[in-house]
Amino acid sequence: MAQAKKALAKNNSRQTSPRIVRSSVKTYDNYIGGKWVPSESGEHFENINPADTNDIIGRFALSTSKDVNAAVNAAREAFDGWRNTPAPRRAEILFRLGEILLGNKPRFTADMTREMGKVLKEAGGDVQEAIDCTYYTAGEGRRLHGFTTPAEMPDKFAMCVRQPVGLCGLITPWNFPMAIPSWKLIPALVCGNTVVLKPAEDTPFSTYNLVEACEQAGIPPGVVNLVTGYGENAGAAITNHTALRLISFTGSTETGRTVASACAERNAICSLEMGGKNVIIVMEDADIDLAIEGAVWGAFGTSGQRCTASSRLVVHKKIYKQFCKKLVEHAKRLRVGNGADAKTDMGPVINADAVKKIMGYIDIGQKEDGATLACGGKRLTRGEYARGFFIEPTVFTDVAPDMRIAQEEIFGPVTTVIPTRSLDEAVEIANGVRYGLSAAIYTTDVNRAFRAMNDMYTGIFYVNASTIGAEVHLPFGGTKATGNGHREAGTQVLDIFSEWKSIYVDYSGKLQRAQIDMVEGMG
Ligand code: NAD
Repeated sequence: MAQAKKALAKNNSRQTSPRIVRSSVKTYDNYIGGKWVPSESGEHFENINPADTNDIIGRFALSTSKDVNAAVNAAREAFDGWRNTPAPRRAEILFRLGEILLGNKPRFTADMTREMGKVLKEAGGDVQEAIDCTYYTAGEGRRLHGFTTPAEMPDKFAMCVRQPVGLCGLITPWNFPMAIPSWKLIPALVCGNTVVLKPAEDTPFSTYNLVEACEQAGIPPGVVNLVTGYGENAGAAITNHTALRLISFTGSTETGRTVASACAERNAICSLEMGGKNVIIVMEDADIDLAIEGAVWGAFGTSGQRCTASSRLVVHKKIYKQFCKKLVEHAKRLRVGNGADAKTDMGPVINADAVKKIMGYIDIGQKEDGATLACGGKRLTRGEYARGFFIEPTVFTDVAPDMRIAQEEIFGPVTTVIPTRSLDEAVEIANGVRYGLSAAIYTTDVNRAFRAMNDMYTGIFYVNASTIGAEVHLPFGGTKATGNGHREAGTQVLDIFSEWKSIYVDYSGKLQRAQIDMVEGMG
């Protein structure tokens, strides 16, 4: 009951005006052991369109630790069958999944825009990322390379193979509701693991679509289990479940820290992808129009709600005024609206809490000594915006590197422009935050590009391109407070979802001691 009240309270916090609750709203269950089942509590939470809070997308299972237990049991039962299925056969099923995702791309795209708010083109990109990830990673089913190496002894063979980790808990955020679950799910499956997946409470529908496609593709019961619900209940139950050998988490640095502590307590493997405060450096020799395009796209794409968003622009003094003028002109031209409208450039932010946080930072920025609010700064509430979470594209200029708006992750359509005198200073400013996800430089000087490439301490770096736009076959992740040393995507993700086993085969027919045991007099 307490949980039901909490669910209601949270949903109310997402409203801007009284909502019409339609009895026709569809109910969505968990997927456990190959069956769609309601949560044990029988309770639900509502998934609401952030562009129009009268539009309730569905009522999703509000899960507790009991549902997580059931999902873990199903994953346990399915594990031996799946890990012993040859990897190329596992991959064939994943290729089928890729086909299903491709066939349903328009529907999944529209569903995503409706639940998450991003414009259709970007939602299509999110679905496409899942498709690309599926095809690319399924290819690993015929590789999953290990290695052989010479042994110290004669008549002895040494090799190293990958084995699945076991049962994995996957916890994902709302900003890429199909791409990020697929980044974790597909490599986990190709490696032979079984999983319990919990999407963010704001965007369960896109992950539901992904899991339904898994069922259609013929992934055996229990291999993929979906449990929807809140982080503090379902999420924490996953994090703390002793049978889950690995937790793969993407979300805020604060939640990631909680997840990591819980994993440390029970010796679980933990892979974290967390926040960012990404930077574009623009040198005086840059193609300014190109840099402006990159900055606008990086700062306001997905309404600034990307972990790789360009929230800091460090611009050389010689072009600073010109850059700021053009940036503001472009930001003002962006058409804010419902992402489902093809004319919209920038959709809403995710929910009422996000509006509060972002408007709070805009307020902080206005109070910070020296910063200038150059454009935007207001929440849009009239007419077509009345029932959604819309904020103007916002630019602060004359920002100092140590201001809070230049240090903390705002995760909204707000960017900051910081003047610099040199590349060395720019790099120092750029590295001077607690995060280390993505950075970029715009310059026509190849020496400067390589200098920055060498000196920036981030997991991703771009030259003459924005901080957003990663490709699935390159490793993705960050340094410092952004990650804990792992990388998703590429082949590097296989190192998260598999463990190395070193195997020695001695065919000499006698006891051969390894060098380490060659004690004098005992050899
Ligand atoms: P969040 O941390 O609030 O939630 C992420 C997930 O964790 C959700 O599924 C949530 O239900 C769950 N959760 C919350 N509390 C939990 C708990 N105590 N135990 C277990 N699970 C819990 O993050 P968010 O608001 O959904 O996402 C935005 C954040 O994600 C931003 O900081 C962004 O930078 C980051 N992000 C990072 C990457 C990356 O790859 N580095 C990608 C996308 C988003």
